[in-house]
Amino acid sequence: MIFAKPFPDELASYHLKRIWAINDYKKNGLHSQAETLARATRNQHGAAEQPWTRAHSHEILAHLSAMTAADYRARHTLLALSGHWDTVHSLMPVKETKVPVYSLAAFYSNSEAASSPYRFCQQCSHEDVRRYDMVYLHRLHHLPGVDICPLHHTALQYACPKSLSTATHKVEYVHARLIEAQQHPIIERYRTLVCRALENSHQLQYDHAGEKLLERAHNMGLCRRQLAHSGTYYHLEHELPQFIYANLPKAWLNHHFAPDHIQYSAPIRPIPDQWHYHQHLAQLKFPENCAPAYLLLTLAALFESADDVCAFLFK
Ligand SMILES: [Zn+2]
Repeated sequence: MIFAKPFPDELASYHLKRIWAINDYKKNGLHSQAETLARATRNQHGAAEQPWTRAHSHEILAHLSAMTAADYRARHTLLALSGHWDTVHSLMPVKETKVPVYSLAAFYSNSEAASSPYRFCQQCSHEDVRRYDMVYLHRLHHLPGVDICPLHHTALQYACPKSLSTATHKVEYVHARLIEAQQHPIIERYRTLVCRALENSHQLQYDHAGEKLLERAHNMGLCRRQLAHSGTYYHLEHELPQFIYANLPKAWLNHHFAPDHIQYSAPIRPIPDQWHYHQHLAQLKFPENCAPAYLLLTLAALFESADDVCAFLFK
């Protein structure tokens, strides 16, 4: 089998597809391609401890790239921004059937943003072609809620990943109002936080940051303890979703959440029947359960500087 190491910050899913393309694996479904990869590389595993099965493709690629599986996950996946962030540095083998190693991180799977998930930066692409003779998908261009390149601050473009390497991709620029939204102070702070979280995933302590968030929300009058109806215990009431809806640019919310955020702006408690962004924000009262991207966004909204947040976000 011909092997190619991942490029810097290359998305794991793109790396995997590149390996398949180089070796001309037949397109007959992910399972059988993964099976072929595991079989074709079995004699190259040396002293590697990970199981050589189709459920461990990324671990196989890590080993062949001379990296630990944890390093590979930390440098090439977006897991640190997902509910599975604690598996990034796991020393146990991580099965792709249980942990979405190749998933992209969107705030809401039914959002407009999630409908065209692959993006690239034209300036980064020029540099890629100069250095590596080809364009590839970067992790930094796939941060949830971020519509500009964090390095060049230019609008990202939607891409069709199949034609990326031929440089004939159909290009569609991200909407001008979304680019404008990226200059909003909350979005700027959030972008800083999300980049730092990805860079320093080994030091993250989201649980602690969640507690600090609730403390801050309490001081701002956005969170209080209420005696339960039974009168026997207290529960936490908060208006963090409403705070987010009221303070973030509408164009950004419409694109990355959904235009229906308006119906949740009143402090009445709607109970939507599907798990979506509103429930994720409502979950912030249980820091240990909440999805990191929502936590980072709300920290950016409640604190005035990203450095203040980083002081307790990292160990
Ligand atoms: Zn760029």
